[in-house]
Amino acid sequence: MNSYTPPLQDMVFALEEVCNIRSFAAMEEFESFDPDDLHHVLAEAGRFASEVFGPLNKTGDSLGSVRNPDSTVSTPPGFAEAYDSYVEAGWGAAAFPLEYGGGGLPWAMGLALQEMLTASNLALSLCPLLTQGAIHSLLAHGSPAQKAEYLPKLISGEWSATMLLTEPHAGSDLGALTTRAERADDGSYRLFGQKIFITWGEHDMTPNIIHLVLARTPDAPAGTRGISCFIVPKFLPWQDGSPKMRNDIACIAIEEKMGLHASPTCVMQLGESGGAVGYLIGDENAGMSYMFTMMNNARLGVGMEGVGVADRAFQQSLQFARERLQGRRPETPAGKQSAIISHPDVRRMLLTQKSLVEATRSLCYYNATAIDLAKAHPDKSERAKAQELCDLLTPLSKSWGTEVGEMVASLAIQLHGGMGYVEETGVAQYFRDVRITSIYEGTNGIQAIDLIARKLPMRRGAVVKELLEQIATTAKEMPDELKTLREPLEEGVESARRCCDWLLAHPGDNALAGAVPFQRLMASLVGGWLLAVSSQASLRMLPAASGEEADFLRAKQVTAEFFCTQILPEACALEHAVTGGAELLYALAPEQMR
Ligand SMILES: Cc1cc2nc3c(=O)[nH]c(=O)nc-3n(C[C@H](O)[C@H](O)[C@H](O)COP(=O)(O)OP(=O)(O)OC[C@H]3O[C@@H](n4cnc5c(N)ncnc54)[C@H](O)[C@@H]3O)c2cc1C
Repeated sequence: MNSYTPPLQDMVFALEEVCNIRSFAAMEEFESFDPDDLHHVLAEAGRFASEVFGPLNKTGDSLGSVRNPDSTVSTPPGFAEAYDSYVEAGWGAAAFPLEYGGGGLPWAMGLALQEMLTASNLALSLCPLLTQGAIHSLLAHGSPAQKAEYLPKLISGEWSATMLLTEPHAGSDLGALTTRAERADDGSYRLFGQKIFITWGEHDMTPNIIHLVLARTPDAPAGTRGISCFIVPKFLPWQDGSPKMRNDIACIAIEEKMGLHASPTCVMQLGESGGAVGYLIGDENAGMSYMFTMMNNARLGVGMEGVGVADRAFQQSLQFARERLQGRRPETPAGKQSAIISHPDVRRMLLTQKSLVEATRSLCYYNATAIDLAKAHPDKSERAKAQELCDLLTPLSKSWGTEVGEMVASLAIQLHGGMGYVEETGVAQYFRDVRITSIYEGTNGIQAIDLIARKLPMRRGAVVKELLEQIATTAKEMPDELKTLREPLEEGVESARRCCDWLLAHPGDNALAGAVPFQRLMASLVGGWLLAVSSQASLRMLPAASGEEADFLRAKQVTAEFFCTQILPEACALEHAVTGGAELLYALAPEQMR
């Protein structure tokens, strides 16, 4: 009942028609990418994800990872073997540089591979995802020796990695962290402190774990300007180079959570026996800026987690709606029940799920192509433009992808009725698992602050306005066959323009008060635009298509029309909340809020 079928045709369509991934083959950076292999590679990865990761999703949820008295953590049965197969197949390496044993594929393709892994088993997929974050940090800021030592093993997946940022009093406010790093005579550091909520901080799937830890040196300035980033391996090299010496870092507890039971969320203690040996990455006090380097990839990856889970929840909803019999529609013979898919409100739920999944998938893939172009476009000014676009889209992908994950999983429960609320069907697990995604890697509220305070002001609003101009052009040039899309897109652009002007004119609390609704409005508009682009492509391709292919292309048009005419206007109505200012939010004193 709850198996996962990778949506290959949709994925390839989005990559080719929305992201124009075929054009990447001409770029030197992606010389190993053969666009004709796209479907085949995704199909192989999809088979792996659904057949190897997928079957462990439910057992992982019911058994969970367990901490043993000796501080080790045992993963649920089958997890270590599945992870080994993942390493052997080389999926984790696919989108990393050839130089360190990677496959040299575009990030957009790597993200599509990730979608299928997260949809199959979010808890297990987090282990390689955290490793990816560390790889990006080391690629950008590691010394040549650090790169040579760690990257090949992390890229292959032989070793995993973690990110140790959060402390009990330092969550969103990382500037408050107090973990201490003291310089040692040999140039390394000794770290002391406690980190909480560390994903896959300890486990039995790899022979070594490389922790990236944020800490402060004794003379560091206060706040985020005084944070440094360290490599703290679980095992240090012995004389023969093999990782045998246990470092002074241990998992002292794992959290009880509402979901993601198989992913151990660890409390990590550093420095109980003389200090955890750490190696500085780059310069002291520059740790936060290094974190920002990998954040675009990591935040986009979390947005994709939401989309992956949403797609799986949609697939299961569709199957249930076809099978569950309730009520009788006029076309059903007397004395028989109809499948619930024939009821209008169930249709609404399904189309809402489908259109949200396709819109957020397109947004995330498009965001990934901006990462690729920022790195690999032969023209320097195009690279700079792509980087700006990527910076702007990242908070949108992270926040909206994860909100949609929750919304679609919640709708899946609704659509299943009581069977959705009980655990048997598995949809409740999707909701429990995906709920954290809008909190970690920077809460969605923090993403919105990033959007308002850093991204909107880029070139005094011109980066956002240029994107809106592009959307307006698409709307204006919409062929008559798709004219129903024109008006909602144009209205969306106007609404977004007014919001931008208002927000830029009201910095501070007034703008911050409208940050989350603005983020939703912008993300929905960009999602609607990308669905419109895919609708245009399908119109172009339809004359040469027949049978299932033609049905698939027509479905693209229906999905875009539903989204643009019924979901986008709801998002545009958020303009009132965006421009409402902060006064009303502060009209009640904390003690009056009851
Ligand atoms: C399952 C799980 C896995 C995790 N994995 C990791 C990991 O691997 N590594 C790691 O370092 N951390 C990890 N975290 C921690 C996670 O990143 C934090 O929980 C998150 O950053 C939020 O911090 P917090 O929980 O302290 O919430 P708080 O910062 O206390 O936020 C509470 C609320 O206040 C809001 N808020 C806070 N500050 C502001 C502000 N300035 N303006 C407006 N609103 C604000 C937030 O948006 C939120 O809604 C994980 C957490 C969980 C639960």
